[in-house]
Amino acid sequence: MGLIPYENEKYQDWSDARAQEKMRGALSTVGEALGRSYPLIIGGKRVETDAEIASLDPSEPSRVVGRVGRATEREADMALETATQAFGSWSRTAPEARARIMLRAAGIMRRRKFELLAWEVYEGGKPWSEADAQVAEAIDFLEYYAREMLRLKDGVPIYSIPGEESRYFYQPMGAGVIIAPWNFPTAILTGMASAALVAGNTVVMKPSEFTPITGAIVAEIFEEAGVPDGVMNYLPGYGSEVGDYLVSDARTRFISFTGSMRTGLRINELAARQVKNQRWIKRVIAEMGGKDAMIIDDSADLDSAAADIVKSAYGYSGQKCSAASRAILHADVYDEVLNMVVERARALKIGAPAGAEGGADVNVGPVISEPQFEKVSGYIDVGKEEGERVLGEDPGDPKNGYFVPPTIYAGVEPGAKIAQEEIFGPVLSVIRACDFDDALKIANDNPYGLTGGVYSKNREHLERARHEFKAGNVYFNRGITGALVGVQPFGGLGLSGTDSKAGGPDYLPLHMLARTVVERF
Ligand code: NAD
Repeated sequence: MGLIPYENEKYQDWSDARAQEKMRGALSTVGEALGRSYPLIIGGKRVETDAEIASLDPSEPSRVVGRVGRATEREADMALETATQAFGSWSRTAPEARARIMLRAAGIMRRRKFELLAWEVYEGGKPWSEADAQVAEAIDFLEYYAREMLRLKDGVPIYSIPGEESRYFYQPMGAGVIIAPWNFPTAILTGMASAALVAGNTVVMKPSEFTPITGAIVAEIFEEAGVPDGVMNYLPGYGSEVGDYLVSDARTRFISFTGSMRTGLRINELAARQVKNQRWIKRVIAEMGGKDAMIIDDSADLDSAAADIVKSAYGYSGQKCSAASRAILHADVYDEVLNMVVERARALKIGAPAGAEGGADVNVGPVISEPQFEKVSGYIDVGKEEGERVLGEDPGDPKNGYFVPPTIYAGVEPGAKIAQEEIFGPVLSVIRACDFDDALKIANDNPYGLTGGVYSKNREHLERARHEFKAGNVYFNRGITGALVGVQPFGGLGLSGTDSKAGGPDYLPLHMLARTVVERF
């Protein structure tokens, strides 16, 4: 196929009045479409359910963004059966044809970009630039995995011995379940589903119950791009109601999951139990939480370090698995960096990204939901016992939107709860280290291992961290969020996941079975 070389999708320049105008236009058009109902999609048919899930705008929880069907085990069974039946023909569809469908989905997303951004803003409470980066990432996944399939379609070279031909190639696995979180509702759902689909598998796609409308739009785009009926099935529902069923069923060949550590470990455990009629060991691809640290040593460019800590800690209100939630500062620069971080974080603009006062300059929106608001508020209370609150105040009434102000706790002990557990909100714990060794030890002393950063001009420190920092993605002298597809393959160590690097060269083979076929002549 004659494709242009892969390139990451460009971000909007929000200083350009035309981009702002387009965004306002999309918010207004999508605003008119709020409140609609979206049924399940199974085998290309719209399937109504007895109950629905209402998706709310976290900036204004009285506003219903839309309603989706609420799957039960009955619909989960239908979806799995349909995906299983559809596998035969889809797995035999030429890899080039599958790749073209992903490229077409990327084209549709580009054309509908501002509309997608607007849905993200309403449903996810995302600041515009965060929504933009996320939709760009979804497009990148489609473009990248399409090219990856073309690279791998004939297998990879191995050696043959004289008189024989040895071939090593991949084939699809079967029907899989895609289970997505709410924090990157377009990118992660699209990325996980497109990798599975382009590799020749069929899927049951379950979005998060907090962002199912974005999930419905992604499903529509896959349909419009030409994914055949039954190959992609859209199954919104509560994890607690259909999750165990989907994971445990004998027809499920693999589970591709992104979400919390707790859910990931449960899926891993359930998937490992063989059930009646099960003919394989289920494959689990799991990307889980993080408690990501940035180390600032005494040789660092402190101003840039402070700017990147703030960006990494408060982008999307800290609701990124890659967010900096621990700043580990060398004692000699502790006060200076802390002051700079506090001043920069104080200057962030908090607001409703879709509201009249909102706009491209809103940096911090709401957290996603009432349970998340309560969880983060709980950690803010715990923090009062474990550190000195140098920025932030108690969150207001959630009825007015789930807003939590950027919060900083200083003087936190490395073993404190707020320094060990994933909060997933705009709360930063600042920890003092006596030297670089101490800083690295503190950073690594955590069950997670997703992202990490070091700010330093000391080559020896950087080289040590290159090998010893326990994180799947380690960044030097820059921020630690916003991994680019194909450029910064993304995935964690420890209890952050199965180290399946999304957007990297090893990702697609996780969705396929490798075959060795040898012929003697
Ligand atoms: P979550 O674990 O609560 O939910 C994730 C998905 O799992 C949802 O679709 C949910 O319905 C489903 N689910 C819940 N219980 C289930 C069960 N028993 N069986 C099957 N599915 C079930 O996570 P969340 O709150 O949606 O997302 C936030 C979490 O995701 C954070 O921990 C964050 O760090 C993590 N995350 C990780 C990455 C990464 O790449 N490592 C990326 C984004 C988010």
